[in-house]
Amino acid sequence: MRTIQIKDITEAVADMCMKAGAELPGDVYARLQQAKEKETSPTAREILRQLLENADMAKKTRLPLCQDCGIAVLFVEVGDDVRIEGGNIREAVNAGVRKGYAEGYLRKSVCDPFTRANTGDNTPAVIHFDAVPGDKLRIVFLAKGGGCENMSRVTMLAPAQGWEGVKRFVINRVADAGANPCPPTIVGVGVGGAFDRAAELAEKALTRRLDDIHPNPDIAAKEKELETALNKLGVGPMGLGGETTVLGVKIAAEPCHLACLPLAVNIQCHSHRRKEVVL
Ligand code: SF4
Repeated sequence: MRTIQIKDITEAVADMCMKAGAELPGDVYARLQQAKEKETSPTAREILRQLLENADMAKKTRLPLCQDCGIAVLFVEVGDDVRIEGGNIREAVNAGVRKGYAEGYLRKSVCDPFTRANTGDNTPAVIHFDAVPGDKLRIVFLAKGGGCENMSRVTMLAPAQGWEGVKRFVINRVADAGANPCPPTIVGVGVGGAFDRAAELAEKALTRRLDDIHPNPDIAAKEKELETALNKLGVGPMGLGGETTVLGVKIAAEPCHLACLPLAVNIQCHSHRRKEVVL
């Protein structure tokens, strides 16, 4: 049994918020570069150049990648052989978000849903806990901006609609979203589970690196098929046309009720703030 101190969790989360706010992950930066080389539209190329320049400047100046620093979403995997000492893990994660957003000069965007009064410190964060084997604690941080979050959807398809129905829904969603989620985007697709679980799967799919390949060859092929179809939509960088509407598609699937086909699409903008730590 390994013991992890609560203060170490708070410090790790604060550090992730600050670093993610100013540093685009290497795989996302590389995809933007590849897209710039491939684009034939001068406007699309110029926008991609500006996105890369923005990422370079944020890294150098430690200023946020975007004015919308997002709502903090964290996936916390707790190993069976881990003992947390010194407090409550949910409070520790929220304390880390509070500290990271304050010390990183990141915009606080979380408010009461009815009064719209800002909570003032970007908490509460959205935290998903999972129990896993082992003696490690793994935390993945995502910042979700309002523009792309508003374009995400959950639906319940009829089972007979199958893969063709899933594909049609995802393509229509990205087409209808247009410029709103600040393309090129990363599209997380959650299939199966139940209504709520599909949404969680779609969000969790966004925690994968863009250059990874799904271990299930059938799902890997479906990701590629969707990516190709979405990049033929012509939405392009910032919605001004081009061949780069998405940087990647990630699918997470699990079994569901035989009468249901739950489906969620979680769209993430080009400013894909993602960070991971293992304690
Ligand atoms: S969708 Fe992303 S890039 Fe666009 S304003 Fe929101 S956080 Fe910024």
